Amino acid sequence: MKEIVKVENLVKKYKDMVAVKDVSFSVKEGEVLAIIGSSGSGKSTVLRCMNQLEKIDGGNIRIDEDEMVKGYKKEKPIYNDKEILKKMNLKCGMVFQNFNLFPHKSILENVTEAMITVLKMDKKQAEEKAIKLLDKMGIQDKKDAYPCNLSGGQQQRVSIARALAIEPEILFMDEPTSALDPELIGEVLKVIKKLAEEKKTMVIVTHEIQFASQVADRVIFMDKGSIIEIGTPKEVIENPKEERTKQFLQRYLERV
Ligand code: ADP
Ligand code: MG
Repeated sequence: MKEIVKVENLVKKYKDMVAVKDVSFSVKEGEVLAIIGSSGSGKSTVLRCMNQLEKIDGGNIRIDEDEMVKGYKKEKPIYNDKEILKKMNLKCGMVFQNFNLFPHKSILENVTEAMITVLKMDKKQAEEKAIKLLDKMGIQDKKDAYPCNLSGGQQQRVSIARALAIEPEILFMDEPTSALDPELIGEVLKVIKKLAEEKKTMVIVTHEIQFASQVADRVIFMDKGSIIEIGTPKEVIENPKEERTKQFLQRYLERV
């Protein structure tokens, strides 16, 4: 299967603090990759680098045939041309923990926004597509409402519809259910599961270990900015090799 994303020796620092050290992995077309690990281990930073929300300090990120950095000069990355970076970014959809919907736009406008401004689609066409996506997320009846009138679970489903609107090749989700009340988690996991069944390529940072086990093709366990283990859920979650993975899973089991 084709490799859509390749992360090579990624390094990200915040001042002197190294948040991500020498992280390498790839994502194949149609694959679901889950990233698990304690808070502060660098999971969000990895996603934010792939989405160009943070500048990288070392290594490279490739999406299809394009590379984020075209070379290094005195150990400083030289970013690729704007056009290429934009093309790469259009292939990436992002879903955030706190939904990040535009509060003053209706649900329909939230979903059509990028189609109209970025893809230059006409309004009617964009609305038709948005309604289809909202329908798929089971939330079409809320199209004229505003984010503040929706539950967290509904808002997150809108945010998934919005991310899908630009037809990204890969969808990144950063703890999509962490901000939700327990009774609303299921409805969001359900739509993510549906996307996984449709073979949407996804990288999901999650604390829902059981969910990761069910839906992911491969799992990455991160600790202190590094990948400790990567493999199938059976390998990493059921039969972890590394002591740090075992401890993390043990702590998780004690909590649930
Ligand atoms: P995770 O998502 O696994 O909880 P993060 O990627 O958010 O971890 O953070 C990794 C490390 O980088 C943490 O030590 C965190 O405090 C630090 N960090 C994250 N974002 C920033 C930032 N904008 N400025 C400074 N430090 C940050
Ligand atoms: Mg995080």
